[in-house]
Amino acid sequence: CGIVGYIGNNRAEDVLVDGLKKLEYRGYDSAGVAIFDEGEIKVRKYKGRMANLEEHLSKEDIKGSLGIGHTRWATHGEPSDRNSHPHTNVSGSIALIHNGILENYMQLKEWLIEMKGDIFKSETDTEVIAHLIDHYYEGDLLDAVFTAVDKMEGAYALGVICKDEPDKIVAVRKDSPLIVGLGEDANYIASDIPALLKYTKNMYLIENGETVLLEKDKVTIYNELRQEVKRDVFEVTWDA
Ligand code: GLU
Repeated sequence: CGIVGYIGNNRAEDVLVDGLKKLEYRGYDSAGVAIFDEGEIKVRKYKGRMANLEEHLSKEDIKGSLGIGHTRWATHGEPSDRNSHPHTNVSGSIALIHNGILENYMQLKEWLIEMKGDIFKSETDTEVIAHLIDHYYEGDLLDAVFTAVDKMEGAYALGVICKDEPDKIVAVRKDSPLIVGLGEDANYIASDIPALLKYTKNMYLIENGETVLLEKDKVTIYNELRQEVKRDVFEVTWDA
């Protein structure tokens, strides 16, 4: 029920874990992260509390500086390691986190199975979105997300990364909260402001239907017609 994303020069793991802990108040049953490290996307996700995820992460040294993290409140599929986010496509080249409910996931899932024989690893609505983005992927993650979102009904805040584009995060929001944090040579996404206050007080409040392209030194916001929109920086005046 919380999402965090980080692109910058520091260890993504630290920012993701810290941000997710600040979102624990939203409630959750599982937690996970996906981090670019050593040329691959490493996904680590577990049922249970943040402390459980942290304990697993402490057994290895993931240095990557781009990643996404999630605390899940299960709606489709029981709480389990398998159903925890991030979810991936079949090959693992696309990883995503999702808050909300994909209403038409059954139709899309059946369509993907029938058309391509896709094999699903979880019972979640979310995994279908990863497969859908992969289906439309032709070398441009932003493009693939736009096309996939056109087919989606329901509520979602998404953070998406792709192995072949290791310098960006694409985020989208419809009826689930999403904000962007603006740092020095670093940018962030989160469900809510407290997750990012340790790092920045400069935010973009993302509006319904908008898609965001995050790079280390640049954030671009698009409306549903794929036109770039300008947003004033929202400066938080309270302390963490
Ligand atoms: N519907 C998704 C799931 O059950 C996301 C739940 C959430 O918002 O945490 O996995």
